[in-house]
Amino acid sequence: MAREYPLAKTRNIGIIAHIDAGKTTTTERILFYTKKIHRIGEVHEGAATMDWMAQEQERGITITSAATTCFWQDHRINIIDTPGHVDFTAEVERSLRVLDGGVVVFDGVAGVEPQSETVWRQADKYDVPRMCFVNKLDRTGADFWRCVDMIGDRLTKHALPIQLPIGMESDFKGYIDLLEQKAIVYTDDLGTTSKHVEIPEDLQASYEQHRETLIERIAESDEELTLKYLEGEEISKEELIAALRKATIANKIVPVLCGSSLKNKGVQAMLDAVVAFLPSPLDIDLPTGLNPDTEETITREVSDEAPFSALVFKIVSDPFVGRLSYLRVYSGTMTKGGSMENSTKGKTERIGRLLRMHANHREDIDEIRAGDICAAVGLRNTFTGDTLSDPQQPIILESIQFPEPVIELAVEPKTRSDQEKMGVALGKLAEEDPTFRVHTDEESGQTIIAGMGELHLDVLTDRLFREFKVEANVGRPQVAYRETITQKAQAQGKHIRQTGGHGQYGDVWLRVEPNETGKGFEFVNGIVGGVIPREYIKPVE
Ligand code: GDP
Repeated sequence: MAREYPLAKTRNIGIIAHIDAGKTTTTERILFYTKKIHRIGEVHEGAATMDWMAQEQERGITITSAATTCFWQDHRINIIDTPGHVDFTAEVERSLRVLDGGVVVFDGVAGVEPQSETVWRQADKYDVPRMCFVNKLDRTGADFWRCVDMIGDRLTKHALPIQLPIGMESDFKGYIDLLEQKAIVYTDDLGTTSKHVEIPEDLQASYEQHRETLIERIAESDEELTLKYLEGEEISKEELIAALRKATIANKIVPVLCGSSLKNKGVQAMLDAVVAFLPSPLDIDLPTGLNPDTEETITREVSDEAPFSALVFKIVSDPFVGRLSYLRVYSGTMTKGGSMENSTKGKTERIGRLLRMHANHREDIDEIRAGDICAAVGLRNTFTGDTLSDPQQPIILESIQFPEPVIELAVEPKTRSDQEKMGVALGKLAEEDPTFRVHTDEESGQTIIAGMGELHLDVLTDRLFREFKVEANVGRPQVAYRETITQKAQAQGKHIRQTGGHGQYGDVWLRVEPNETGKGFEFVNGIVGGVIPREYIKPVE
């Protein structure tokens, strides 16, 4: 059977952002414009949404890493949800491992925030091609160019605006597309209609200057275009677009776009850019792994006919169908009802149902092919990070790197008779989340849970109550370890400051001391029960 969407027309992307930058609003608008939801606001109200866990709505954070499919300009776009809170960086990690490209959302007032830096570095680790969406330009105090400068100073030298905003703050109206050389302003509040206008006179000089920079930077990224540019030859729009696509995929250019998701401006253009510049599964490095029998490194071709290989990136207990395993297929085809080898565990798994998750419904599908993402029902012994592969030609794909838990606390059920129930429930939660661990303290006999931060463990004890009806007393959090910073920190003897991403933490001061080896520095966390990832630490200037 022919593919519904050729691989070249598939995008697996993540919307990556600091908490509050507007990821949820942006995702919601994407689903609105791609006709997956019919009314703005649905995402916050309904159950069948990206943010379907009650806590997420109450706390305003995104915890689950679901994948939602939508369609834009004849392309299938799978959006892999990436949480923005620092306690959930492990979730970000697993999303980054399976997505092919990212849209990083910034708050146009706050610009680059500490967590923007954290997720940016994580994306660097996986070499994820990305573009930036400077959001909230309608807000008082918004400044596109300041944000662009901050991105340039703190995140990447490769940032390149491909749009200029028209108007700012309450007067933000639209944008100039530097590639198309067109000015667009929105003519209704829902952003569904827009018109082309003359390039505003007061932006003419800026437009010319940035258009010239754009051509120069794109030309620089491509040998042939460099020659043309140097010889003063005209470079066509098509050549510029093709070269920008190549440069974005190679991480040599990071296109920067502008908008206001809340005011429905710029989201469609951002989707156009996802299709135009972010990679398809054919554009990324070939999937690599180990042959479990010979331990040799092997690569797979990204095609439907190649032997099957897929990485499981998320396990969820679903209230309707039970255990759901989200998987990213790298090669081959898998049919429902068949069997696959969990090559990481050396066990055979029967594939019950295959589901494609849309924002408003789940679609039962018969098969899943290379480059695509779906959820499988019926896998019993498969966990996050495992590979499913063709039993005849097994491979263990490069897995996901999970950090070790950093804080721990004791839990005990309020009612003694719930002890066993609590044990089972904690076991299930730990199955879903590789950064959540449970053990029994030998001396005290207490049940100890360990995770990535106070909020992480809070959410899990909350789930214990909501989903498993176990009420538990929770002890004081203990920092599980002292982390050694091996990088050359200039901060010896000084204090370093971490500005909390989330209001509740505020500013935190860490003490930096040389460690025993004299090579690195140790810090002792200043927050009760929270630990700050290494990427977060910066010497005070
Ligand atoms: P998330 O934490 O990144 O998912 O952020 P949300 O999408 O929940 O947005 C955080 C807050 O910013 C909410 O109150 C949104 O209404 C608001 N917001 C999101 N996008 C915009 C925007 O473009 N302009 C303005 N003014 N507010 C926005």
